[in-house]
Amino acid sequence: MSDPHTIDPELLQKLVHDALVWSSLHGLVVGDRNAERSGSVPGVGMVHAPIALLPNSFPEVHWNQACELAPIFNELVDRVSLDGKFLQDTLSRTKKVDAFTSRLLDIHSRVLQIGKKEDIRLGLHRSDYMLDENTNLLLQIELNTISCSFSGLSCLVSELHRSLLSHYEKPLGLDSQKVPINMSASKFAEALAKAWTEYSNPSAVVMVVVQPGERNMYDQHWLTLSVESNPELINTHNVTSIRKTLAEIDAQGKILSDGTLQVDGETVAVIYFRAGYAPTDYPSESEWKARLLMEESSAIKCPSISYHLTGTKKVQQELAKPNVLERFLENKDDIAKLRECFAGLWSLDDSDAVKNAIQQPGAYVMKPQREGGGNNIYGDDVKETLLRLQKEGSEEEAAYILMQRIFPTVFPTVLVRDGICYKEHAVSELGIFSAYLRNKDTVLSNEQCGYLMRTKVSSSNEGGVAAGFAVLDSLYLT
Ligand code: ADP
Ligand code: MG
Ligand code: MG
Repeated sequence: MSDPHTIDPELLQKLVHDALVWSSLHGLVVGDRNAERSGSVPGVGMVHAPIALLPNSFPEVHWNQACELAPIFNELVDRVSLDGKFLQDTLSRTKKVDAFTSRLLDIHSRVLQIGKKEDIRLGLHRSDYMLDENTNLLLQIELNTISCSFSGLSCLVSELHRSLLSHYEKPLGLDSQKVPINMSASKFAEALAKAWTEYSNPSAVVMVVVQPGERNMYDQHWLTLSVESNPELINTHNVTSIRKTLAEIDAQGKILSDGTLQVDGETVAVIYFRAGYAPTDYPSESEWKARLLMEESSAIKCPSISYHLTGTKKVQQELAKPNVLERFLENKDDIAKLRECFAGLWSLDDSDAVKNAIQQPGAYVMKPQREGGGNNIYGDDVKETLLRLQKEGSEEEAAYILMQRIFPTVFPTVLVRDGICYKEHAVSELGIFSAYLRNKDTVLSNEQCGYLMRTKVSSSNEGGVAAGFAVLDSLYLT
């Protein structure tokens, strides 16, 4: 693709205008942070989602590689989740210093203690990658197993880009077919619908656990709309979804003697978490009570506490150690494929790694057990934090992992935010959505479910769209 900074200014104006109209008409929108009720009242204070005006180049080989990895990671998550001792042991030191992870582990312990088994297991994951420029390797940033955002909106971005490319085919000279079809919303919805079917109670609902004041609500509404109108079900059943905060679930929820979860009088078949991944989601004991209540019920949890813990950074680092993947997977080719995408990952009790990171802090990222962006430590702060931890000799080091810093290729791009277009230099992170559903020994679904490309200004360390660091994008295969 040629440099979008050189696009004729008149054409650029037209493209931006068309992109804004398209986004508004097709629901590629988020709640506007400048509008007071935008997180509580749907239809009030909407703004187009922050987007890249045109898709950005991505090599087809690495795209294929990322897609191929999806079912393997799905299987890995399922296997790891069944090994309660592995999860508890891996996180045992972190537990002592990280109150949030400790609470999650307490719920997990409780589940182990009462011998609760999840026969029906649903995972809606997103594995994120960056393409390292120097080595030309596709390296995994992290695997998200809870509350993966943008499956509702990212398919719209791909559609927008395809539409712009075909409408302006002549002046842009680009082929809209090079933007891969992205079925993220309908694929995730299909998995949720299939899980609902497995629960076998036609009057039960899908419950979305939401944060109060969620401005990214349209992303979620796209998904639930797609569940309610899913071709898997539409002719046979009428599925309803409800939205509840953790506090509401505590106030309105109960478990019947047979394990059935009822919230506000509705029987819940599937719990889909779009909250509950961050300490701020649990401002009081009430929210923790809700989480435990759900976990103890027979509803299908997406994710279960075991799937949630399998997605922690500490587990990612443990799985990257020699001979650990072999404990969970048999297929040697699969293991090799996973290992190929692992970046360098170290525990802070590895004194060589810590020494190197103090000498060369720019080559590392330090990560706590957190989700949602904005939590990592970069550059000189890595050095300062490591030195402080060494000096204090504190156990706090167990809260973190060290990761090799990946440096993707910087490219020129045009970003549109709040109706204003910016010519920037940026880097991209590719997320592959995937769904896994099994009922006892039968795997009902294990597949790639579309993608999320996020592009961020290259001077920014973090890449969260909701956190305001990045925009939604799609890819142009080269
Ligand atoms: P979170 O769970 O909060 O999203 P991530 O591990 O994805 O945590 O880190 C947040 C962001 O930080 C990523 O989206 C990416 O932009 C950046 N980042 C994370 N790890 C690395 C890395 N190893 N190299 C370069 N950038 C990274
Ligand atoms: Mg994450
Ligand atoms: Mg991330």
